[in-house]
Amino acid sequence: MATPGEWADRFVVADPDLVYLDGNSLGRLPLAAADLAADLVRRQWGERLIRGWNDGWFDLPLRLGDKVAELIGARPGEVAMADSTTVNLHRLATAAIAARPGRRVIVTDDLNFPSDRHALAAVADQTGAEVRVVGSDGVQGPVEALTAALADDVALLSLSATAYRSGYTYDLAPLTAAAHEVGALALWDLSHTAGSVPTDLAGAEVDLAVGCSYKHLNGGPGAPAWLFVRRDLQADLGNPHQGWMGHADVFSFSPEYEPAEGIRRFLTGTPPVVSMALIEPGVDLLLEVGMDQVRRLSLQLTDHLLDRFDADLAHRGFGLASPRDPAVRGGHLTLSHPSALALDLALIDRGVIPDFRPPDGIRLGPVALYTTIDEVDRAVDELVDLVDTGAFAAFADAEVVVT
Ligand SMILES: *Cc1c(COP(=O)(O)O)cnc(C)c1O
Repeated sequence: MATPGEWADRFVVADPDLVYLDGNSLGRLPLAAADLAADLVRRQWGERLIRGWNDGWFDLPLRLGDKVAELIGARPGEVAMADSTTVNLHRLATAAIAARPGRRVIVTDDLNFPSDRHALAAVADQTGAEVRVVGSDGVQGPVEALTAALADDVALLSLSATAYRSGYTYDLAPLTAAAHEVGALALWDLSHTAGSVPTDLAGAEVDLAVGCSYKHLNGGPGAPAWLFVRRDLQADLGNPHQGWMGHADVFSFSPEYEPAEGIRRFLTGTPPVVSMALIEPGVDLLLEVGMDQVRRLSLQLTDHLLDRFDADLAHRGFGLASPRDPAVRGGHLTLSHPSALALDLALIDRGVIPDFRPPDGIRLGPVALYTTIDEVDRAVDELVDLVDTGAFAAFADAEVVVT
C-alpha cells in the first residue's frame, strides 16, 4: 500500500534536503510538465506557429476542463479553464445575481479568502445587491448560522469549500440543498479543495464553482483557473464578460454576440496556451493516483502532524487553529503562535518552507503526493529547537513581501 510522498520522484526535487510544506500555495513542478514546457515552446510555438491552434490549442480550455471535472466529481462539459479564480468568481456571481431577479443578498462567511470577499463586494456594488457576512470562530465553518442566513431575499450563497486559513472543509451537499430550498444558487470556491479533498459536485447538485490550478493541481505559478457551471444551468446563465471565445461561431467574426452552447459560453478571450497546457501533467498524475488515495495519505500526514502537535508543540506556546475532526479537515493545518512570523522566517532559513498567515498563523501544507512523514517530523523538530533555543528571535524584525 502506498505511503505519503510515494510520487516525489515524479516531481522536480532540486534540493532533497528542502522540506516543502507550501504545496497548498504553489505545488511542485511535475517532471512531465518540465518536459512539456520545452516541447510547447520550441516545437509547438516555434515550429507550428499559428497552426498550433488547430493542433489542439483551441480545444485546450474545454478538453483540460473535462479532466479537472473528473477530479472534482463533475461531468464532461461542465468545466472550462479560464482566467484567474477571482475573475471567474466575479463572472459567475454576476451571472447568478442576474438569474435571480428581485433577490438582492449574497451570503458568505468570514473564513472566506479576502480576494473572494473583494470580488463579492464588487459584484454587490455593481448589481445593487448586498453581501451578508456570517461570522465564525475563525476555525470552524458556521454551518448553522449560514443556514439561518438563507432567507427568501438571498440570490447566492458563495463560500470557500476549504477555508484558506483553518482548512475547515464544508460538506457541500447540505448547504447547497439549503440554498436551493430558498431559491438561491450556490457558488463554491474549491481552490484549496481540488486535488486535495475529494468532492462530488454532481452528487451535491452544486450550481457553480471556481478554483485555481497552481495549488494542489500543481499547474505552475499563476496558472489559469477553472470554472464549473452545472449542465442544466448553462443555457439560463449569461456571461457578463462577453467576448469572441464564448461566441457560438468564434471565427465568424460576427459583430452580433451569440453565446455558444454549453460551457464554452463562459469563456471570454484567447486562452494563455503555454501556462494552461502545463497544468495537464499535474492533473493527469492526480487522476492516475485517484482522489480517494490522495485523501487517505493526506489524512495520514495531518494525523501525524496533530500527534506531534499534542506531544511537542501544545506546551511550547503553539495553538491549533484548524479542525481536529478529519471529516471537516482540509489538506493543511494552521498553528498559532505569538511569534509566528519570526518562526516562519526562521524555519525557511533552516530549509523548511511553511507559510505565514496574519496575524499569528503558521500554515503547514504537507502534500500526499510528495511529502513524507519524515519531512513532517523534521518540520516539527525544527520548531521545537527554534523555541527551545530562542533562535527564532533573530528574525523578529525582518521585513518580507511574500510569506
Ligand atoms: C488561492 C485562492 C484564490 C486565488 O485567486 P486568484 O484570482 O487565482 O489569484 C482565490 N480564492 C481562494 C479561496 C483561494 O484559496
